Amino acid sequence: MNIKPLPISKESPIDKGFMTYLFGYGTEITIGVYMWVIQGAGKHIVVDTGASGELIRSTGFPGIDFQTQEEALGKIGLTPDDIDIVILTHLHKDHASDISKFKNAVFFIQKDELDYARNPHPTQAGWFVVPPEGTKLEIIDGDAAVEPGLEIIETPGHTPGTQSVLIDTDKGKACISGLCTIEENFDPPEALKKMGVQAIAPGIHIDALQAFDSVQRIQKAADIIIAPHDIKYFDGNTLPG
Ligand SMILES: [Zn+2]
Repeated sequence: MNIKPLPISKESPIDKGFMTYLFGYGTEITIGVYMWVIQGAGKHIVVDTGASGELIRSTGFPGIDFQTQEEALGKIGLTPDDIDIVILTHLHKDHASDISKFKNAVFFIQKDELDYARNPHPTQAGWFVVPPEGTKLEIIDGDAAVEPGLEIIETPGHTPGTQSVLIDTDKGKACISGLCTIEENFDPPEALKKMGVQAIAPGIHIDALQAFDSVQRIQKAADIIIAPHDIKYFDGNTLPG
């Protein structure tokens, strides 16, 4: 299988500390907001639905529109109606907007995430999406197989029910992290590694230590790690490259 990043919007400028807990504060970066299409699974499978720049701005972050989900899918010959499965890594708006556009899809989501989205802590209340009435849900509690070679793993801490996706590719096991991160979370700069820092928790979390453990779980599970906000995927090139 391959993974095709579909960039939907950007957030810029954003303080790096939103991504890398305790590191990089005061540095302005640009991050990407994506949908990910899994190619070669035999079904049309998408990880996350992304969000428009406008929707991101409504949550207080500097969203910049790039293209709609319809435009992005159209470039690879698909429409939202073609999508069979959507795996939602978590229910923050930048990952789970416009659920109703995908009329024929079944949405895979953790039970803990759904429960929390219905009654979030006030510090993150404006960020959560509750799937609209009538959404076809596959509610998962823990790790789960989706298709042969495609697996969901539980990686909590960013939100209570964050999940990540493991995909068999011809270059090894790839993981789309559900934790809002950039590449540095999984591969810290050399200067930090020399200090013993081998992983960095996401800057946004409900439990920093649990989120750190989830970063490490992904490091152990995957040969190729896709950090879901790294701007390097904005070229849309198929992964692994
Ligand atoms: Zn995010």
